[in-house]
Amino acid sequence: MRENGGPVVTDFNYTPSHQKQFLQPAVGTTVSSHQDLKQIVEMTLGSEGVLNQAVKLPRGEDENEWCAVHCVDFYNQINMLYGTITEFCSPQSCPRMIATNEYEYLWCFQKGQVPVAVSAPKYVECLMRWCQDQFDDESIFPAKLSGQFPPKFISKYVVQMLRRLFRVYAHIYCHHFNEILELNLQTVLNTSFRHFCLFSQEFELLRPADFGPLLELVMELRDR
Ligand SMILES: [Zn+2]
Repeated sequence: MRENGGPVVTDFNYTPSHQKQFLQPAVGTTVSSHQDLKQIVEMTLGSEGVLNQAVKLPRGEDENEWCAVHCVDFYNQINMLYGTITEFCSPQSCPRMIATNEYEYLWCFQKGQVPVAVSAPKYVECLMRWCQDQFDDESIFPAKLSGQFPPKFISKYVVQMLRRLFRVYAHIYCHHFNEILELNLQTVLNTSFRHFCLFSQEFELLRPADFGPLLELVMELRDR
């Protein structure tokens, strides 16, 4: 059933229980698919401070561990979100991994090689597999309570992973938002993305340039 090469869905099940509520789809919101993206996002984001608090490092928690858990958590959320639209995101509908016509993300298949243009589903598949390889590598993501995080774990590995995972949000927002609306998953997508942005902001992980086509949306979030 995976003719279009959707991502390999592997659920890394370390999601802290206090974050599970954000994965519940909203019910009862009827939205016209022609409404402006920004307006809908404003409607569904809410302004409660729950997420703002949820990203803060708990007292006594190791910052590396906290970031590692969030990498896995965002990986799972994005995998789940993209999984809902895989039938709409094929090599035919999305022959290139773009976000608006201004941004295109290339994939590098081998270190030292020139990055190449691939379809969106191929890019997401490669990205998710790459994330899994990082999680499986004990020298990067050590098993709990044993092993050490590598030097510069956050600035090197966490930043790189979040920078790449962000691109899936960008592709979904810019090219599949209507389908997200039809599936009534806009609240789930917005809450997940807001959580992602607040976390990145709390630990100063991503630069404005990393937010590319969604920078305006991200600035909006910051003011809430
Ligand atoms: Zn697509």
